[in-house]
Amino acid sequence: MRLTFLGTSAADAFPEAFCSCDNCARARALGGPSLRRRSAALIDDDLLIDLGPDIHTACHAFGLSLAHVRDCIQTHPHSDHLDAAHLLSRSAEYGTRGTPLMGFHASAQTLQRLAWAVARDFEPGSILDPENAQRLNVRFNTVAPYVPFAAGRYRVTGFPANHDPAMGSLLYAVEADGRALFYGTDTATLSEDVWQAFHRLGLAFDAVVLDHTYGPDQIADGHLGAKEVAEYVVRMRAEGLLRPGGRVFATHIAHEGNPPHPELSAWAAAHGYEAAYDGLVVEV
Ligand SMILES: [Zn+2]
Ligand SMILES: [Zn+2]
Ligand SMILES: [Zn+2]
Repeated sequence: MRLTFLGTSAADAFPEAFCSCDNCARARALGGPSLRRRSAALIDDDLLIDLGPDIHTACHAFGLSLAHVRDCIQTHPHSDHLDAAHLLSRSAEYGTRGTPLMGFHASAQTLQRLAWAVARDFEPGSILDPENAQRLNVRFNTVAPYVPFAAGRYRVTGFPANHDPAMGSLLYAVEADGRALFYGTDTATLSEDVWQAFHRLGLAFDAVVLDHTYGPDQIADGHLGAKEVAEYVVRMRAEGLLRPGGRVFATHIAHEGNPPHPELSAWAAAHGYEAAYDGLVVEV
């Protein structure tokens, strides 16, 4: 599998355009990998993780196309991860051509929020009505935690995130070609149920992507931070959840406590993981 990071920031982009903090000022001056869009990722060219607000600009910047996306696995409905307008703009009614039917996989709560958001711009009625879904060239699948399902050629399993449980937030394992990836944002501390489920489902990962909202000198609250990611690297290796050569990447990186990319990369490298950046491509 080829994993492409389309965005690696938290809800505020990095730099946050309205912010004059030192981290934002230095990121602005450095440019390149220090400029982060809101988090989303692409696997090969056909599986999207999160229909995020910045996926268009990421595609423009990195010469990518989403024309072959056949499935989207959605973590949760927070606006830094879900821009419902994409469902309208990718339809034939907006002049988009040659777009395959897209399976959209999410929790029941996320689908409900998505329907509310689309209703703002879509008069015919709820997109959860199969007739309307067909008009928008999309097929909805309600994901139940811990139950693997097929998304195209990928075997996908959702895990409950420790993040706004009323939204049914999910983290995802994606498997194909004998390789496995875990995409773990947004979440605070992973529950023991999730750790046990990794073992019960026989999962061991070649790449792990984790929430890194908080920086090395902050106390994490509601999301993971640098210290927790460093601890998880140790635990995953100790429990055999990371295969030999397996890599761990930080994403959802917020400006308040994380330094610009070169400094964050150095801290991560000293603690056994890597800071992802927008446009990074990883062969998993
Ligand atoms: Zn988020
Ligand atoms: Zn800032
Ligand atoms: Zn969130």
